[in-house]
Amino acid sequence: MKYRAILLFGAPGAGKGTQGKILGQIPNFIHFSCGDAFRNLRVDTQLGRVFMAYASNGRLVPDEPTIELWTRSVEGMIATGRFNPEADTLLLDGIPRNPRQAEIMRELLDVKAILNLFCPVMDKLVIRLQRRAFKENRLDDANIETIRNRLETYRRETRAVLECYPEALIHQIDSTQEPLLVLKDILKVVTDLPKPAISDGGTTFSGAHLIRP
Ligand code: ADP
Repeated sequence: MKYRAILLFGAPGAGKGTQGKILGQIPNFIHFSCGDAFRNLRVDTQLGRVFMAYASNGRLVPDEPTIELWTRSVEGMIATGRFNPEADTLLLDGIPRNPRQAEIMRELLDVKAILNLFCPVMDKLVIRLQRRAFKENRLDDANIETIRNRLETYRRETRAVLECYPEALIHQIDSTQEPLLVLKDILKVVTDLPKPAISDGGTTFSGAHLIRP
């Protein structure tokens, strides 16, 4: 079975995390931030160390361990009842992050929409990332060189992910607007999507426990 998914897409600083956290509060929407999953790893684990080495230079972690972390996280959410693939939609933030990841995930995802949070002004992203460095204690936001590397990684490797999906799935969202207006534009797209075949009306529980009148 493929997981129903919406991709939150955009350059670092475009606001994927901000919007993903808000949307993840809505019943039946599950926010998964790949960056957060990496940051939640203990630094004394093998993958935690790999993550630190790559992220501190603004580079992407290699694809295999990244996909494995994602798969394990999703399976964990299913096992603990936080994600019911029959009724819920995954909001993927930061994955897939290059065409190869998109290719590997093709068999695993039923992508319903891609929300491209575009930002024509790179300097605006740099300012947002520098502000976030202090607020969220992010080591990869702290220095201008790393920020520039991340934006360059986005331009060189990530942007091409959009070409892996049919154009009809891609929705352009102007991320230079204030967060409330970005949210309004996102909700316009998401509310128009067809609902999953099984909707449990708000609570997430496994299909095996569905009690029908
Ligand atoms: P941002 O989008 O602001 O760059 P994230 O929190 O999404 O920040 O990611 C932080 C870092 O985590 C990235 O720079 C990269 O090193 C690593 N990372 C996150 N997601 C992926 C991914 N899908 N593939 C490879 N590396 C990733």
